[in-house]
Amino acid sequence: MFDYLIVGAGFAGSVLAERLAAGSDKKVLLCDKRPHIGGNAYDHYNEAGILVHKYGPHIFHTNSREVFEYLSRFTEWRPYQHRVRASVDGQIVPIPINLDTINSLYGLSLTSFEVEEFFKKVAEPVERVKTSEDVVVSKVGRELYEKFFRNYTRKQWGLDPSELDASVTSRVPTRTNRDDRYFTDTYQAMPQYGFTRMFENLLDHPNIKVMLNCDYREIEKEIPFAEMIYTGPVDAYFDYVYGQLPYRSLEFKHETHDVPVYQSAPVVNYPNEQLYTRVTEFKYLTGQEHAKTSIVFEFPKATGDAYYPVPRKENAELYAKYKALADRTPKVHFVGRLATYKYYNMDQIVAQALTTYGKIAGMKRVEAQAHSHSNGNGNGNGYSRIIRVSTPEIRA
Ligand code: FAD
Ligand code: UDP
Repeated sequence: MFDYLIVGAGFAGSVLAERLAAGSDKKVLLCDKRPHIGGNAYDHYNEAGILVHKYGPHIFHTNSREVFEYLSRFTEWRPYQHRVRASVDGQIVPIPINLDTINSLYGLSLTSFEVEEFFKKVAEPVERVKTSEDVVVSKVGRELYEKFFRNYTRKQWGLDPSELDASVTSRVPTRTNRDDRYFTDTYQAMPQYGFTRMFENLLDHPNIKVMLNCDYREIEKEIPFAEMIYTGPVDAYFDYVYGQLPYRSLEFKHETHDVPVYQSAPVVNYPNEQLYTRVTEFKYLTGQEHAKTSIVFEFPKATGDAYYPVPRKENAELYAKYKALADRTPKVHFVGRLATYKYYNMDQIVAQALTTYGKIAGMKRVEAQAHSHSNGNGNGNGYSRIIRVSTPEIRA
């Protein structure tokens, strides 16, 4: 008899498997319908011997010391600051839009102070920023919005930015300096030996059994367990009783080229001319040296594997109905990007999984553990704050 059946071996499922097994001595069966662990963060060496991310570029970044320290128990890190360029008007320029983007695009030599004035002049006043269009036009005006955001977003989501929550394009800042990093988080690093190796270490515990190529529906009636952690799409769990929640999908086209370097940046975005949104060259991310190089193109799609929840009001309303059902389902915990319908990054999923564990195991025990791995000042924005939530009613 297992204490937990965990559905999905991505960050949500694997972190919970590790915590329940190592932290609470629970017996865990972790299953995934895919033939590998790691969920969307899975990486592997391809036929040329180059480490690639099967489901598109995954770059780890977080402001949470607790999340970083937790994962550091399972991997060493390679410091890595991500940089992205956009192909616009025949030029390859920095995105997020910064001082150099404007100067290159318009053949200017503005200073930081002058570019601030430039943005003020072109920005369109928006009374209340509600949509992804508002976010951008209120900062950099319509022309830059159309060059960098409108078509990319329509392609990526199959929706106009005016139909998407502000949170989507708010992920990409605007800068008046020359900082061309994609993220400014305190911790930015890649697992030294890859994500999959980190997952192997997370799951290396005698209380954890892993079943791959296994949809949980094939085994839930056959294998006894006390509770379930479910990290797949929430609407699928409930047989779509309220209809399908939209999830955006992608098709990945992987290629290997017989040259050491393919493009001038780790990721190049193509907002306008191409059917794909971006091209990633993996060796930049991993630091691997190799005579050849591997890249991936991302083609957005409406159908296929669920990758992105689509943040907009009507979807939030539909999700709220599923959440109410989930909350009324005893002994099943819904965790992760698909099960809680949240456009979360990896670190946020780790934090969410640690929070869930904190609730299951009881607050005191987790707090004690968190403190043993921190310097005690508790000023991170993840684990230490989150574990103060106490919900004794679902204590295991
Ligand atoms: P997943 O990784 O999706 O894991 C869920 C697992 O459940 C899957 O493996 C699935 O096969 C399994 N499953 C579903 N249904 C069943 C079933 N019925 N039976 C058995 N198994 C089932 N985050 C970052 O922080 N940085 C990035 O750079 C970044 N880049 C991204 C790029 C792309 C293209 C995508 C799609 C996402 C990116 N993310 C990034 C987000 C990141 O992938 C997620 O935050 C994280 O992987 C979510 O983990 P999860 O465990 O919730 O879900
Ligand atoms: N975006 C855009 N142009 C860009 C980069 C991003 O329009 O060059 C918009 C687009 O809607 C995208 C969102 O901003 O989905 C968030 O971008 P991010 O790079 O964070 O997307 P992710 O890596 O999660 O796919």
